[in-house]
Amino acid sequence: MSARRFQGGRLVIASHNAGKVREIGELLAPFGTEVVSAGTLGLPEPEETGETFVANAELKARAAASAAGLPALADDSGLAVDALAGAPGIYSARWAGESKDFDFAMAKVHTAMGNERDRTARFVCALALAWPDGHCETFEGTVEGDIVWPPKGSNGFGYDPIFLPKGGTLTFGEMEAAAKHAISHRADAFTKLVAACFGKG
Ligand code: IMP
Repeated sequence: MSARRFQGGRLVIASHNAGKVREIGELLAPFGTEVVSAGTLGLPEPEETGETFVANAELKARAAASAAGLPALADDSGLAVDALAGAPGIYSARWAGESKDFDFAMAKVHTAMGNERDRTARFVCALALAWPDGHCETFEGTVEGDIVWPPKGSNGFGYDPIFLPKGGTLTFGEMEAAAKHAISHRADAFTKLVAACFGKG
């Protein structure tokens, strides 16, 4: 079955993160989409109780769509390390603690991996587009790589300095933003979303 298409007009970005809202607005601007943030509308932030990236993106998108009476887009992302059975996964932000200290979170990944020979990992981004009638489309993007130590580079955010994409020589923390965005999990998920719900049908 083909995906339901976004018919234009206002779209709620189910995030209270101004940076995320701006970035998504820029990505969707070519499709004549006017974005408004959940924060601006004063919508409450639901608790992320899902067990997968897709489940968390879906619950955020559904909550915003039903509260606003408008279609809503949410994303949920993180780092999954194979030797750690997919951790930190959906807890990627929480591993950094209250103070959002990613030097601490990266060291935690490094310590937990110890001398594991398998250094493989991936960043995952789930996107969910929900409508007020309860319909929801979900998409998942990934980028494969290896965990390296010590951290390298100060670009990007989160776990970027310890993530070396497959076939690359620079960590995400060392890459220019445009180079990262060309191959990132978020770009992969957005390409799928746009093709299914925003592109020419
Ligand atoms: P969310 O905003 O609740 O989905 O949390 C995502 C978390 O995953 C962030 O706080 C980062 O720790 C991590 N993460 C997601 N995407 C990236 C990325 O592109 N680079 C580095 N860390 C990321």
